Amino acid sequence: MDTKKSSSESLQQLLCDKYLGLLADVKDDGSCIIRGTFMCGDNWLRLKLYLPHYPALNNFELYVMEKFEYKLYTATNMTVQEDWMLEDFMDRLPQLLPPKERIDVPKITPPQGNIFADILALHKPNEYRLQINEGYTRIRFCEFVDFEKHYLELGLPSLELLDHSVPDCIPLGEMLEKSAHSLEEALVLFLKVLEDLRPFYDNFMNIDELCHVLQPSPATTKHNSRVFPLKDRVYLKVTSLDPFACLASMEIKIIGPTDEVSRLRHVLSDGLGNWDSEMDMYKNLLRIFDLLFFPMPDWADDQDQKMDEEDNQDLRCNICFSYRLDKGEVPLVSCDNTKCVLKCHAACLKEWFQTQLEGKTFLEVSFGLCPFCKAKLSTSFAALLDE
Ligand SMILES: [Zn+2]
Ligand SMILES: [Zn+2]
Repeated sequence: MDTKKSSSESLQQLLCDKYLGLLADVKDDGSCIIRGTFMCGDNWLRLKLYLPHYPALNNFELYVMEKFEYKLYTATNMTVQEDWMLEDFMDRLPQLLPPKERIDVPKITPPQGNIFADILALHKPNEYRLQINEGYTRIRFCEFVDFEKHYLELGLPSLELLDHSVPDCIPLGEMLEKSAHSLEEALVLFLKVLEDLRPFYDNFMNIDELCHVLQPSPATTKHNSRVFPLKDRVYLKVTSLDPFACLASMEIKIIGPTDEVSRLRHVLSDGLGNWDSEMDMYKNLLRIFDLLFFPMPDWADDQDQKMDEEDNQDLRCNICFSYRLDKGEVPLVSCDNTKCVLKCHAACLKEWFQTQLEGKTFLEVSFGLCPFCKAKLSTSFAALLDE
């Protein structure tokens, strides 16, 4: 055990000292895989090296990336001396690899398969910021012109998608895997996605600025829904199910006391028939509900909004006595009794309903009794809990 551990450690040390772009994985059966980028002569190479009897080199398999394909070298087409250790082998690679194939690149275009040349070619400080981590394993594009809050983070040299700023319902990873085979293609595809999502972001922009968005908190470029007050005790939840078809896939839910919700649903369905495609979502919603503006909180002067929310007893959930839950949910549910002013979180109420014999769920709407005044209470947990 100890010899295996120490051989693994000394291998990591060697890679750290001499071959920074390479990572090693020593298996329990004594075999070893080394992969990554390697400076060979004056070129970066992507390689995978299998050593079934590490630290011996016999039966090695070396795969070298050439023109997006790995070429295999073994003892049959590469001469390796028996007393060589890994370090001898790596240091002699520039001579061992056939020179023609090693630099099989036209002089004018950047070398293909050379991720570092690709990165340099993509460095356009006027159009976006480009960041690379210290170990050269992650590249991040951010602060795009026109799309300032967006970012794309890829693994190097695999180009695997690590993080991004568009909604998770967009299968960005799949799209990249299918149609982006180089760093540049990945960036071009991402910018195209952002351009296609412009109507989606434009539609939410006015809502974010002119409505009191309660959930999500804070709303980011990744969120495709917003919850905000329509009137006292009544909230709208607007969701764009397919951000590429923002308005066509829009879903509007009304959350509030039963009677009010059913009345407003009629108002909404009448209004949707007269949707004006010249106007954005915000203006259409105002028109549908015959409002000049959506209610905004009346923060006294310039008080810290967050502090105010947390300290305000009236805003708290009357089941768990806090304001925001971990995922940013705020208490939005109230009962049908207009004299009962108590509110609670959908999640807390759902738990409460589950302990009650009277609780029922029908067509996504749950019915039960108010935990405080025992009046009827119905709410769509599905709408509030993102189920
Ligand atoms: Zn609660
Ligand atoms: Zn009540």
